[in-house]
Amino acid sequence: MATQHRDLRTGQPIWLKRPANNVQYSALSNDISVDVAIVGAGISGALIAESLTEAGFSVAVFDRRKPVTGSTPASTALLQFEIDTPLHHLARKIGLVNAERAWRRSKLAVDVLRERTRELGISCEMQNRNSLYLAGDVLDENGLRKEMDARRHAGFETRLLTRDELKARFDIDRAAALMCFDNIEANPRKLAHGYLRQAVARGASVYAPVEIVSVESNPRHVLAMTKEGLKVRCKHLVYATGYEMPDQVPKAGHQIISTWALATPPQKENLWPERCLIWEASDPYLYMRTTRDGRIIVGGEDEEFEDEAKRDAKLPAKTKAILRKLKKLFPNVKAEADFAWTGSFGASDTGLPSIGQIPGMDRCYAILGYGGNGITFSMVAAQLVRGLITKTGDTDADLFAFEKS
Ligand SMILES: Cc1cc2nc3c(=O)[nH]c(=O)nc-3n(C[C@H](O)[C@H](O)[C@H](O)COP(=O)(O)OP(=O)(O)OC[C@H]3O[C@@H](n4cnc5c(N)ncnc54)[C@H](O)[C@@H]3O)c2cc1C
Repeated sequence: MATQHRDLRTGQPIWLKRPANNVQYSALSNDISVDVAIVGAGISGALIAESLTEAGFSVAVFDRRKPVTGSTPASTALLQFEIDTPLHHLARKIGLVNAERAWRRSKLAVDVLRERTRELGISCEMQNRNSLYLAGDVLDENGLRKEMDARRHAGFETRLLTRDELKARFDIDRAAALMCFDNIEANPRKLAHGYLRQAVARGASVYAPVEIVSVESNPRHVLAMTKEGLKVRCKHLVYATGYEMPDQVPKAGHQIISTWALATPPQKENLWPERCLIWEASDPYLYMRTTRDGRIIVGGEDEEFEDEAKRDAKLPAKTKAILRKLKKLFPNVKAEADFAWTGSFGASDTGLPSIGQIPGMDRCYAILGYGGNGITFSMVAAQLVRGLITKTGDTDADLFAFEKS
């Protein structure tokens, strides 16, 4: 076994019910050789495949499920640069310089995701959105002021809205909120298929269902074996396996937790002004966005366990709890669930992922611990892995590198 096996999600994620222009894939029937093998055809594998084919590598992507049927279609896809860990808290954990580097890199990743998606002409319901970060039990109004100062110190445009401003502009009754600018919402399934299709147009192949069960590497090449005993010879291998972590990767500081989400019926007439992305400075936090057809997608209620049966059993109660919180924030919305789902979720002690070469495995790379900024960090991974493979490097490689165990 090369990676963990999980039941990644249960219930009905909204995106699987919508049409998407799916990527072509096929079974693998013989041994193959490529420059880069990517294990995992979710958003991470898609962004990495696009980036590496653009750099001129031959690429094959493998998935034991159909492409884009792992965690990616469960994502609520608020594509934010604001990392789950407030900047002034992250500074206490990893130092001010590194915390500011992480935040700036996250901002760049969101910008690149927007620009690249536009340049490639990928149609994925992408929309720029400002965000509101509401005072909660982690940061009250004073805490938000400190966070604003920290963000401004790092160069981020941030505004503090007082209770009165929040009420007048958004009809939200909270002590305060921070407003940030130019985040994104999207349809994550279309986004991932779009990037995979782009890689395929440049000659990449997507093989599914194909399970990679072992990987051996040496300073010159990598040999991966499929469950059926076929050989994949490559110069580099990238594990983009989401929350099914590779066996050989150090996992210190990373955990799998459980999360729940839902989508309401369309209700354009009831949505809050400007349709910002909304989240709370609370633990656990509630977060929400809107869709093109006027639904509210809302999620949260995270719990720190990974037992999938227990996670699934809680879906009805968690759905009710999320709807109750939504109604409390916006008394005029239709708080009903057309879609409700639950999934496993990778979190880390810092809120940052680990991305880089796997210690002790030449030419093999992995990505772990995406947290609430999963897709933003998938873009960081695509950039960073390309830098490592092309040997052009990446200015933030040390920030995300795996610690040797
Ligand atoms: C409910 C929920 C809400 C979320 N909301 C957000 C959000 O608002 N914003 C955000 O940025 N992120 C969010 N995330 C996180 C985000 O969805 C994930 O970080 C992202 O989808 C992970 O993508 P991935 O490609 O790495 O993993 P996946 O999509 O899971 O793809 C990995 C693939 O690897 C394959 N695989 C694993 N092992 C093997 C093997 N040995 N051989 C072959 N194939 C293998 C799996 O079959 C899988 O298809 C959310 C997640 C959940 C569950």
